[in-house]
Amino acid sequence: MKLHFLGTGGGRYVTASQKRKTAGILLETKESALHIDPGPGALVNINSNPDYPRENLKGLIVSHSHLDHYNDAETIIELITESENNFCQLMAPESVLKGFSDIESSVSRYHQNMCNNTEMLENGEETTFQQLEIKSQQMFHTDPKCVGFKVSDEEKKWGFWTDTQYSDELVEFYEDCSVMVIYCSRPWKKPVKGHTSLDDVPKILENSKASTAIITHFGHKFLESDLQKQKALLQEQVSQKIIFAEDGMIFPGNRSLGNF
Ligand SMILES: [Zn+2]
Repeated sequence: MKLHFLGTGGGRYVTASQKRKTAGILLETKESALHIDPGPGALVNINSNPDYPRENLKGLIVSHSHLDHYNDAETIIELITESENNFCQLMAPESVLKGFSDIESSVSRYHQNMCNNTEMLENGEETTFQQLEIKSQQMFHTDPKCVGFKVSDEEKKWGFWTDTQYSDELVEFYEDCSVMVIYCSRPWKKPVKGHTSLDDVPKILENSKASTAIITHFGHKFLESDLQKQKALLQEQVSQKIIFAEDGMIFPGNRSLGNF
């Protein structure tokens, strides 16, 4: 498995300014690719780099029904099904597929019907995509159906801690992951309800088997802070290697490209 960080920004202000892109992450395997959280700009960014595996895209995960996660989902579905003529599997929670409370479904029925397969991601559920196994759990976010998930192939298990308020209850699910991707919108000790701040990360990693944690989904306040200092603050507290993702970064990286 390989990750292409198309975009590493999150939240309303960064979405509006595009100080960091909000295009989500491509998870690439030998046979296929999966788009995770295609926010605004995802389609444009996929087409900006011939190395991105757009012709292998066969599915997408939308973690929840907020604009910076779902905005380009329908365009990506059309890219996969109409343009590339590929099999397409959409994986998303109830809020995205059907709507929940005052949230309307964020992928139209028309586009859901374009997909060959639609899987609802729920708490404690397990699904498969191509050769990958995907397990999900419900997070504590302002979209109450928001899911975090872990993706595994025969060798690796990588966790995606998505938008959420920190809770001890969420941590155990990820303990067997070797790499953690953490959506962390706020800097050290600047918490905001419903989101993760950097000082939550040591608690997430405390009993984790992970060797590496990648911080992404930077919000406005985080990007205004001194990122080197923020990284050093966190690195002092944890044994895992900490990577602050950047737009265009590939993981695992190519050292000659200096990605990390
Ligand atoms: Zn959100």
